[in-house]
Amino acid sequence: KVKQIAIYGKGGIGKSTTTSNISAALSKLGYKVMQFGCDPKSDSTNTLRNGEYIPTVLDTLRERAAVKANDVIFEGFNGVYCVEAGGPAPGVGCAGRGIITAVQLFKQQHVFEDLDLDIVIYDVLGDVVCGGFAVPIREGIAEHVFTVSSADFMSVYASNNLFKGIHKYSTSGGALLGGIIANSINQPYAKNIIDDFATRTGTKIMQYVPRSVTVTQSELQGKTTIEAAPDSAQAGIYTELAERIAEHDKSDIPNPMDTVTLRQWASDWGNQLLELETGVIAGGAKAGI
Ligand code: ATP
Ligand code: MG
Repeated sequence: KVKQIAIYGKGGIGKSTTTSNISAALSKLGYKVMQFGCDPKSDSTNTLRNGEYIPTVLDTLRERAAVKANDVIFEGFNGVYCVEAGGPAPGVGCAGRGIITAVQLFKQQHVFEDLDLDIVIYDVLGDVVCGGFAVPIREGIAEHVFTVSSADFMSVYASNNLFKGIHKYSTSGGALLGGIIANSINQPYAKNIIDDFATRTGTKIMQYVPRSVTVTQSELQGKTTIEAAPDSAQAGIYTELAERIAEHDKSDIPNPMDTVTLRQWASDWGNQLLELETGVIAGGAKAGI
């Protein structure tokens, strides 16, 4: 049976970069993978295709009466299947429609079975700000949800909102939370903050991914790090993450913080970091500066 997972996280936090590296790494581990971009920007899969953009499912449906799944599935790095759901014209309609339409098309045409896929990864949008973005969770399209988050408050805030969404639909067959992919974690304090957030919300960290110039270089070449720098430390980190995701089979209902608690939690961390920086507390071991 095909494993369906969705990647969420604040806008610009590194969802598409991380997802593409996971897909590339999974393909090298021998899995048959489809990466499904759900963002109307339709830029999810471009580092799997040397920086090339592919036509979206919604655009193709607008142009042609009968669309075959093959018309919207493109081969990327090492045989990864690439799909971009696309979106409505800016300012019109619901961003979730592309995902629903594309998944319906694929189900009708038995694409997931015929391609004999092991894993489908949905690269979804930033925050769960409208019903559309919750589609992969709500409609049970994905089974496991992962969030990409740094230790920055706005990123943690977006993840906490996502956890609220997962919690809400968990009683009606929605997707559950697999864990946090901690991105741009280069300092001990950042690790401590994201670890504490995971503990508080009842989830786990799948991997700590540092911010790395190797990722920047690879992206400039239109490639994933797995393709452009396969022997780098960063590629090793993405490969380890891909292995954990392939083996992951049990997700949970998260325990999001309410707004007041989250605000207080953030202030407490802010005070700790400030005190450490101004030398009020010597050592800095606990907060990790
Ligand atoms: P959006 O919400 O707009 O879809 P996103 O969450 O998909 O954004 P990306 O496009 O993957 O984010 O990443 C944003 C930028 O951050 C990219 O230029 C990417 O190369 C860079 N980036 C992400 N993760 C890392 C990392 N670990 N090291 C270096 N650069 C990174
Ligand atoms: Mg993206």
